[in-house]
Amino acid sequence: MGSNIDKLVQNAVPGVAKLHPYQPGKPVDELARELGLNPDDIVKLASNENPLGPSKRVLAAIEAELPELTRYPDGNGFELKQALSSRFDLKPNQITLGNGSNDVLDLIARAFLQPGTNAVFSQYAFAVYPISTQAVGADLNMVPAKDYGHDLSAMAKAINSQTRVVFLANPNNPTGTMFGRDEFRTFMTEVPGDVLVVLDEAYSEYVSDENYPDGIELLTDYSNLVVTRTFSKAYGLASLRVGWAASAPEIADLLNRVRQPFNVDSLALAAAKAALADVDYLEAGKKLNDQGLIQITEALDAKGLSYIPTKGNFIAVDFAQDTAAINQAFLEKGVILRPIANYGLPNHLRVSIGTQEENQRFITVLNELDLNGES
Ligand SMILES: *Cc1c(COP(=O)(O)O)cnc(C)c1O
Repeated sequence: MGSNIDKLVQNAVPGVAKLHPYQPGKPVDELARELGLNPDDIVKLASNENPLGPSKRVLAAIEAELPELTRYPDGNGFELKQALSSRFDLKPNQITLGNGSNDVLDLIARAFLQPGTNAVFSQYAFAVYPISTQAVGADLNMVPAKDYGHDLSAMAKAINSQTRVVFLANPNNPTGTMFGRDEFRTFMTEVPGDVLVVLDEAYSEYVSDENYPDGIELLTDYSNLVVTRTFSKAYGLASLRVGWAASAPEIADLLNRVRQPFNVDSLALAAAKAALADVDYLEAGKKLNDQGLIQITEALDAKGLSYIPTKGNFIAVDFAQDTAAINQAFLEKGVILRPIANYGLPNHLRVSIGTQEENQRFITVLNELDLNGES
């Protein structure tokens, strides 16, 4: 039996070999190693994480859970589902818990997509949608963006007889764009009732726009709607990996069938429950974000740079030139930003909103840049 690795590789699910793996933000320790910098001097504004650090109540909940570490977690996440149900006025059987909301997006792809079907998503939309779609051998049905945001009427028109899922991010990452309630309702009237609409609301907690469509409130009107939320951003639990979906119980039942039985670990379950109860932490994070956005946009305005208006905890800055060298200049000064050339936006860098001091580090390096010269 000789080696037949080439043929073996060709046997992979069609689409897997072609997919572009997710490119995460550069970790602080990696940059420290690469450039010989002190990790404490590095500021990471690259992954839209909560700059407040973990909530005290979360840390206490994790500590209380530690003695149970030898036990499997509650595979049904009973207590967290109870807490989510009462907080968002849902029934526990409408909820699917995930190892981050990326996991939930994957469950949706596995339950509803297969070769020969397609998923509709927008140009510049979150990179996980094409990855989850291609991983199960389904086709990408990408719709050109409008002003960097989702063109919902074009997306409705792009739906064909093989479309099973539409992925929407509101606000979208990496652009920060938002669509409003009326536009979304019109879109839902145009989508066939047997096409699943996934409304990814990873940043909903940061939005104060009164025109924002709260997906969970709209669930009662649309049986083909799935809303995904995460504990990774405003709730400050990115490393613990907890996300969830709310949907009709029939959809949740399907997603829970393909879910790994223990996809959310016990520390994450306890932490998420505590995070949900810590309203002050959520409010402090939102306030810090609102202030940070003003701080950063004022600096961008002063520098004469344009940016995509954002509703999230990050902002995509247009440097009007390829940003590879600019990004490198920030890295050398210990500021990690997120290049988004892989999204088709080579002239933009995405900046996560940090603490006031972290934002100031970004602004200081920005003001030192000679954007007309060698930068
Ligand atoms: C960060 C993010 C998520 C959340 O990912 P997790 O797996 O929950 O950490 C989901 N959707 C979008 C658009 C995001 O930016």
